[in-house]
Amino acid sequence: MTSAKTVQIAGIPVQLTQKRVKNINLRVTREGRVVVSYPWHTSEAVVLAFIESRSDWIRATLSRTSLPSEKNSAGQNIISGCEVSVWGQPYALQIIPGSRRTAYISAHDLVITLPNRYLNDLTSETSQSAIRKTFDEFLAKEMRKILPEMTAAAEAKAGRSASLYRTRRMKSRWGSCNTKTGAITLNLELAEHNPEALKYVIAHELTHLYVRRHNKEFYALLTTFYPNWKEVRSGLKNARPSLR
Ligand SMILES: [Zn+2]
Repeated sequence: MTSAKTVQIAGIPVQLTQKRVKNINLRVTREGRVVVSYPWHTSEAVVLAFIESRSDWIRATLSRTSLPSEKNSAGQNIISGCEVSVWGQPYALQIIPGSRRTAYISAHDLVITLPNRYLNDLTSETSQSAIRKTFDEFLAKEMRKILPEMTAAAEAKAGRSASLYRTRRMKSRWGSCNTKTGAITLNLELAEHNPEALKYVIAHELTHLYVRRHNKEFYALLTTFYPNWKEVRSGLKNARPSLR
């Protein structure tokens, strides 16, 4: 069930959708539309105030998406002004010169610093792969911050422990569990989503330590470990990877 309407905020049309989400999500699409979804329990006044507080970021992002050069490269290239998500929150990517490759969050920006040799042509394959690598290293660092506490809580609830947690970017799965070795692999991309998604995937993979297949028994156990799994899973459905 959703409810949608368009409002004007500081002269910018914003599409508001109320639906089953946990947080207020704000994004600017490649076509330059401003889209906001928010939970049923959040009042419209709170949402409008939130959007207002981000109006500078929205304006800056809109002005960048309307540049023809960006339109050409919007298909694949990651460049300044692109929107990236970290733990479900939108940030505008800023690529700046620096002595080494690194990434950090500064207010509403995700800043990536690159040595000068990458900056002449940011759309070159070398520069693009340096940007992707830096972003992935940043996501891996974010995962390392959150995982010890989150996996300990999930293991306490499930009553079983993984032998090892690994993170890497995967094309078709959010996570996987090697039931022989007890090693669990988590998709790095989960650090782009609300942390609940990661929590759910950990519970899902720990459930495989009891049941290998996705049968009735599996889902019954998963429900005791992570009751809200259906809702979180449907939230992840639009993003690419699927669970195994
Ligand atoms: Zn599975």
